[in-house]
Parts: sequence; C-alpha cells; structure tokens
Amino acid sequence: MLKRRASRPIQVGSVTVGGAGNVIVQSMTKTNTRNAKATLDQITQLADAGCEIIRIAVPDAEAAGALAEIKRNAPIPIIADIHFDHRLAISSMENGVDQVRFNPGNIQNADHVASIVRTAKERSIPLRIGVNAGSLAHERDEGDLASKMSEAALKQIQLLESMDFDLIEVSLKASDVIITIEANKAIAEKMPYPLHIGVTEAGLPKAGSIRSAVGLGTLLYLGIGDTIRVSLTTPDPREEVLAGYEILKSLELRERGPRLVSCPTCGRCEARGFYEIANTVEEQLSKMETPITVAVMGCVVNGPGEAKDADVGLACGKGKGVIFKKGEKVRTVEEPDFLAALMKEVNTL
Ligand code: SF4
Repeated sequence: MLKRRASRPIQVGSVTVGGAGNVIVQSMTKTNTRNAKATLDQITQLADAGCEIIRIAVPDAEAAGALAEIKRNAPIPIIADIHFDHRLAISSMENGVDQVRFNPGNIQNADHVASIVRTAKERSIPLRIGVNAGSLAHERDEGDLASKMSEAALKQIQLLESMDFDLIEVSLKASDVIITIEANKAIAEKMPYPLHIGVTEAGLPKAGSIRSAVGLGTLLYLGIGDTIRVSLTTPDPREEVLAGYEILKSLELRERGPRLVSCPTCGRCEARGFYEIANTVEEQLSKMETPITVAVMGCVVNGPGEAKDADVGLACGKGKGVIFKKGEKVRTVEEPDFLAALMKEVNTL
C-alpha cells in the first residue's frame, strides 16, 4: 500500500476527506443548475457510478436558490462552486450545501472572504480554496507559475487561519500536467490540509484520461491527494468517475468492480474474434461490482501465466483455449465456446 501524506481530515457532509480515509472520487454536474430536476437526475446517475461528492456550478442567485431542492434530494454531498460573487457562497451555504469552493483569483476582497468564512464557521461548513492557473493570468509572466499558485493558496490559507477558521481543503489545478504536479508538491509540504487534485481542462476522454492519469497518478504515487476529479470534455460525467476509479485501482488505492487483463495481441495470436471476445468480456464485467481479475490472453507466450494469476483467465491457442480459475486449469474449450466458458466461470466464482 502506498504511503500517503498525513492530512488533517475534514467532513464534507457524510464523507470524510483527508486523514487515513479513502481517496474520494468526485465529479461535477454539467446540467444547468437552475434546473433542479435535471441536475438531480445527473447526480443520481453519478452516485450510481461511484461518485462520492458532487460539485455544482453556481453562476447566479437563481442557481443558488435551486440548491435547496437539489440538496434535499441528493444522495451524495454537494459542493457549491463559486466565482466572482461572495454572496453566492453565502446563499449556497444557507441552502444547505456541504462545502463551498471559492477561487481566490476572482474573490480577492478580504471583507468578502471574511463574510464567506463567517457563514462557514456558523454552520461548520468546510471551504475549498480552489486556485486555477487560468485565474492567475496577471501573474503568468512573472516566473514560476507552480510557485505562484502555491503562494496564492498559502496567502489565502493564512487569511482564513487569521479568522480562526481551519475547516480548509486546498486545490491547485492547471491544464499543464507538470505545473499541476509541481504546484501540488510545493503546497503539500507547507500546510496540513487535505488536497483535492485534478488536471483541469484535461481534454476529450481519450487524451484527457491519459493526461489525468499521468498527473494524478504521479501525485498519488507520492502520497499526495485526498480527493480527485478527472475533468473531461464529455456530456456524460460518469466517464470522469470511471477514469478516476481506474487511476485509483491501478495504484491499489481503491477497489471497485472487476479488472480486465487483456493482451494487445501480436502476430502470435491465432484466436479468431479475439477483440470481440475481449470487448464483450469488458462490457459484461462493467455490470459487476466484485473486485475480481479476469484475463483474456491471445497465445501461449504470456497467456497461461497471466490467466493463472487472475481469478479467471482464458489463454487462447489455435482453435482451442484453456480456462484457468484461481490458478488451476479448469478445462480446454473449443474456439466457439471461449466467451461462454469464460463467463460461466466468472459467474460461478
Ligand atoms: S500473449 Fe501472445 S498474442 Fe498476446 S501479445 Fe503476448 S505474445 Fe502476442
């Protein structure tokens, strides 16, 4: 198990963030927040997909007003995402949200910050100081952006601490992976609060998932990060949740659902329909919750080894394949029966 940075835990509704708890998977709704029903439908889908905390954009007073109904019916804790207008943070808290994220890059007036802190204190609501590289535009040309981001967050932390407030979470995000890593490494050793990490505006699902995996994976391997979001350009934010769990699963920080080991194939693979088999197995596994490992392998080179190491495995050969279960050879099957034989063993584990 990876050693994690010891952070001071906060409570976001029913979910603990930081300390020795799990690394929490978050996402953000893409609906119009003013439409409470559409937003709630999306939150419910996300919660079913494993999302543990949801952030919601609050662009105006009408959106802040809709939070009351959303909060009443949401199955997971809610973070109000606030820019520019401190009054939206206050009304969001009055409407019951579990956390407020505000951006010190665009709420700079100390009195405005003080009024957010006052309400948060009265209601014991944690605040996320969310610094974005893009919001530090005026400082971008002045040298090391990662350090600037860390300094901006530290300045804000000191301001909150001077108001005797410590229910703090911090996030430093950039679309540049290296800046994201450097900024989080810099702040992680300078303060005790939990860190929400993400590569912002990471892109479309394919490239965005990879960029997020590199950025978040590097930080998590260093023990940095108490909660994550994979930011993807997709109408379905469940893709973000799926990618988030894949990152955590690959570092053995979380378990969720089965893991498929499948070989890339090469000139040695003589099994017909191999890709279709692997795709169908993945689709069927995606409906299961048990954290098992299933291997689908193309030939005898690495096939028997990987298939044996998995809970259930198929090592294909020419016209025939061998099914393994818990390290033991179960039977030899004919090519047309590969899929059915493999799934039968999976379903009887
Ligand atoms: S298991 Fe066999 S078919 Fe698959 S990549 Fe390795 S050598 Fe190629």
